[in-house]
Amino acid sequence: MKQRIPYTKPSITQLEQTYAADAVATGWGEKCYDYINRFEAGFRQYLGSKFAIATSSCTGAMHMGLAALGVGPDDEVILADTNWIATAAPIVHLGAKPVFVDILPDSWCLDPEKVEVSISKKTKAIVATHIYGNLCDMDRLLDIGQRHGIPVVEDAAEALGSVCKRKRAGAMGTFGTFSFHGTKTLTTGEGGMFVTQDAALYERVLTLSNHGRAKGQTRQFWPDMVGYKYKMSNVQAAIGCAQLQRIEELVGRKREIMAFYRERLEKYQGLSLNPEPPETINGAWMPTVVFDKGLGVTREHLMAAFKAENIDARVFFWPLSSLPSFKPVEQNKVARDIPERAINLPSYHDITEEEMKRVVGVIQSYNQL
Ligand SMILES: *Cc1c(COP(=O)(O)O)cnc(C)c1O
Repeated sequence: MKQRIPYTKPSITQLEQTYAADAVATGWGEKCYDYINRFEAGFRQYLGSKFAIATSSCTGAMHMGLAALGVGPDDEVILADTNWIATAAPIVHLGAKPVFVDILPDSWCLDPEKVEVSISKKTKAIVATHIYGNLCDMDRLLDIGQRHGIPVVEDAAEALGSVCKRKRAGAMGTFGTFSFHGTKTLTTGEGGMFVTQDAALYERVLTLSNHGRAKGQTRQFWPDMVGYKYKMSNVQAAIGCAQLQRIEELVGRKREIMAFYRERLEKYQGLSLNPEPPETINGAWMPTVVFDKGLGVTREHLMAAFKAENIDARVFFWPLSSLPSFKPVEQNKVARDIPERAINLPSYHDITEEEMKRVVGVIQSYNQL
């Protein structure tokens, strides 16, 4: 059996180990927030956002952000059908209804036209997920949001390092959320971040994030409301500080891997990879290949071909509306069709050229391309 090629894996150096060890040894008592404060400050600066709150996950950040916007029972929240369940779960937890909208065939992100026709009196927010690092059309989505008076928020879990017209993904909407799960470009093991430019929204989420205890509240053990507990620990933040110090390297390597695949695969007719339109940078979290329909390639054949080579390629996200928890949305044709003929390629930072060549080899040999 050939050596296994994993799909994702964090890039951990001596720096992460040193910071984590320091946090374990000294980061207690009065110093128990030092790495958290430093990580938040560094992240704000990197992103160009005024406020940041480190969280235990992206899911938690989204949950609190939507709660702070007042999303609740009877409300609707619009999101792309192509998504990880983490984007929809907080909507459900808040008692609101996720409205799954189709994606564009090139960006695999929200189709703005479909968003606009899905808006109802109950629509409380639009969640723009930058899938696999590909950018949503934020100009159009923000315009739609503005015209209808509906906040557009960004799930930028997969888009660290993605930039649109000099603005970073996550810094364009009413708020943005990030994930530092072990599979993501920057990791703290588990973790996330809430970011916003809006001081009042920041204050609300800060209070929610601290079990409803407002910053100015002087009474001890006195929550002003029932909040949440989605905090990041100082030890995790220490790992995050090291990763953030290496952010250019981490994103740069992801982009190198994407460029390698692009160079070797895009010459074949009928294959497309993550787009990178003019004036944008794709953070390249997840190199993904979509095969034209005419090639007759199926997900099942692709999975079998990669498995035979001991390569951990992954399926494109199932449309959320196809999961048992939701009702099918037949009109989401693109979101239902693309996963049938697409695959995520391994892209961990330390992947070697030999390994990438093996990945490319599977696709090349496939169907006598
Ligand atoms: C990874 C991911 C999340 C969830 O992140 P967690 O930190 O695991 O909560 C949310 N949305 C998208 C698009 C993701 O890829």
